[in-house]
Amino acid sequence: MAGRDDWDYMRNGPDTWVDKFPMAAGSRQSPVNIETDRAESDHESLSTKPLRWKYPAYASRKLVNPGYCWRIDCDGEGTFLSGGPLMDDIYKLEQYHCHWGCSDSRGSEHTVDGQAFAGELHLVHWNTTKYRTFAEAAKAPDGLAVLGVFLKVGKTHEEMEKIARMLPYVSHKDEVVDIVDPIDPSKLLPDDNGYWTYLGSLTTPPCNESVTWVLFKKFIEVSHHQLNIFRNLRKFPRGEECPCHENHGAVINNFRPPLPLGNRQLRECGSF
Ligand SMILES: [Zn+2]
Repeated sequence: MAGRDDWDYMRNGPDTWVDKFPMAAGSRQSPVNIETDRAESDHESLSTKPLRWKYPAYASRKLVNPGYCWRIDCDGEGTFLSGGPLMDDIYKLEQYHCHWGCSDSRGSEHTVDGQAFAGELHLVHWNTTKYRTFAEAAKAPDGLAVLGVFLKVGKTHEEMEKIARMLPYVSHKDEVVDIVDPIDPSKLLPDDNGYWTYLGSLTTPPCNESVTWVLFKKFIEVSHHQLNIFRNLRKFPRGEECPCHENHGAVINNFRPPLPLGNRQLRECGSF
């Protein structure tokens, strides 16, 4: 049986995931390279009901190091994402997490006209209109919606700084801390709502083809120092020496390379 830890981004990297997680070989996989010329300007249908969200201050509950990223687990109660490609269905926030590189020139999962960003933030939501639990939604073609935000190196991001300051408390795999100082995920979104959207998958095993992707066109800025704090996370538990020693067991390059968009539709709404 494939266990949850039977994959990583190195020896058991994305090329090998399909051996244990057959869905990774599907035709609706993510991430993809966004060819901006190919995006269909679908302003009418997407903007009839604009994309809207609400995240109460208390929604972010726990900061977790699962060994391959940092993740904030949420209490979806009171959270809300609807409109745009999701139409009238109401989605709730389950968790948000981040992908990054070993240097500032790579780290995002999606690329835009072949260009990678320094990182990519994912806010993972599930469809509460049609499904009863996150697990049930994760198996359905319209079960999940992920907001993706590109990170570019620049000035210190204030809301991200709250997360960066807590990361030393979860420096090793399986460490968890309660979030006391509220973190507002809406402050991690860019100040322009223009986006690309397409139907894809989770970018980590089991790579379920259940995600409506909404990728903001505008990036947010985080500092080089903040990214370095992300890179200080370790992928092995405290007290256990890393068996690989490579990069001292640092969580880096935790991104899956782009897969073919194929004949899937890429739509866009709003400008940059
Ligand atoms: Zn992700």
